[in-house]
Amino acid sequence: MTTSTPALDGKLLERLQGAVRGEIIQPADPDYDEARKVYNAMHDKRPAIIVRAVDVGDIVATVDFAREQNLLLAVRGGSHSVPGYGTCDGGVVLDLGRLRGIRVDPQAGTARAEGGCTWADVNHATHAFGLATTGGVVSSTGIGGLTTGGGMGHLARRCGLACDNVLSADLVTADGAFRTCTREQNADLLWALRGGGGNFGVVASFEYRLHPVAGILGGPTFYPLDGDVIRRYRELIADSDEKLGALLVVALGPPVPFLPERWHGRPLCGVVTCWTGAEDEDDRIRARLADLGPVVGQYVERMPYPVINTLFDELLPAGLFHYWKGTFSHGLPDGAIDAYVEYGATTPTIQSATVIFPIDGACHRVGPDETAFAYRDADFATALSPTLMTRADCEASVPWARAFAAALAPHSLEGGYVNFMDSDDQDRVRANYRQNYDRLTAVKRRYDPGNLFRLNHNIAPRAGGSQ
Ligand code: FAD
Repeated sequence: MTTSTPALDGKLLERLQGAVRGEIIQPADPDYDEARKVYNAMHDKRPAIIVRAVDVGDIVATVDFAREQNLLLAVRGGSHSVPGYGTCDGGVVLDLGRLRGIRVDPQAGTARAEGGCTWADVNHATHAFGLATTGGVVSSTGIGGLTTGGGMGHLARRCGLACDNVLSADLVTADGAFRTCTREQNADLLWALRGGGGNFGVVASFEYRLHPVAGILGGPTFYPLDGDVIRRYRELIADSDEKLGALLVVALGPPVPFLPERWHGRPLCGVVTCWTGAEDEDDRIRARLADLGPVVGQYVERMPYPVINTLFDELLPAGLFHYWKGTFSHGLPDGAIDAYVEYGATTPTIQSATVIFPIDGACHRVGPDETAFAYRDADFATALSPTLMTRADCEASVPWARAFAAALAPHSLEGGYVNFMDSDDQDRVRANYRQNYDRLTAVKRRYDPGNLFRLNHNIAPRAGGSQ
């Protein structure tokens, strides 16, 4: 173990230990190396301490400690941040991973979930009542980062973004104050949390609106990588019921039993279906999928809703190397389809994927300034996500993603989705929030003038600076 991390003043640490019920892990502790890891292996950082909070009191004490000591503070929910915002060098990591309680109110159709939950936690708890809300498509992703950034998933067309379903949130702000944020109380904060990322404080819990979703028809259908398949997919989204969730994926054929071996490792496009409508319409949905092109492999079955969100989990365990780019588009222009086909053909690994999320339907019924998430006119959000086994592999793949993003740029809107951005995209933050940026800056200035919460796609309290 290297010990380059500066030790903190013993007295101050003792005071924090007295105030916190959860664990405080330091560089000399045996589990430090495990505790400092984040999902994306690109980020190998050495914080001075990691606080594993077990209640709101621990959150308040840690926020106060970091602010008073002028230490860098990384807030970690599910730890999936691609830019690695859940960790830092020499500062404090506030790890919410022990805060995973959920209470479902089936009568009201709501759930209150603590800020360290993953989507696996939420899907499991709500499914017991035949209810669900929009979450991410990999179940280990945290609700904290995903929801505050916007939140796209299989249910987005029918139920809106994850942030659209947030009815209220309990938040600890930079001054250590606990604030309940509703439409009536701290409404500016509730507005900012719905898309503005982790800029405004630590969300101790979210209250979500739930929807009746239990069994679905879901799973992937693969086709050869071909622009005509993608054009037919575009038509499918334009004329199908919002109850049809259907992500388009451009990837190399995975080694799964339902895909013949000759397609393993070859460039394909796939549609991941999540039909939440009536079962007696399943055959119609299957027929639409068959019409998109020559099917080379398919696993589309009736399944409980939580299962569809676990289908990629095994392919994407923690500890791989990720670098992402993100775009928004009006429709899927032919030029973008050409780029998907050209760059899809050189997708670097089986774990890498270009994922195109349809965000029409319910996402469009929220006004562009009703929440911080500004792109209510975008029909699709694309994540370009090369995923590599070693750091050395990144040398070729990071330029691949950058060139791919440059090829998509003329066919994309100016900004992109913050949760699909990497750390070299900080200069796009203003464009990502469009007309909402100035209002976000004002909320930031009011609640976090010192920019304590700056490990994120940062909305600086003052124009042109990080402070
Ligand atoms: P963390 O690294 O813990 O946190 C990310 C950011 O959110 C940090 O700035 C952190 O400070 C802040 N944050 C986390 N929790 C809280 C909290 N409780 N209060 C305040 N701030 C908090 N996005 C989608 O929209 N849809 C998807 O389907 C999807 N799938 C993904 C699959 C994978 C494998 C990966 C790696 C990412 C995926 N994403 C998806 C992107 C995802 O939304 C972001 O990576 C998101 O930031 C992850 O949140 P987290 O809590 O896991 O991450």
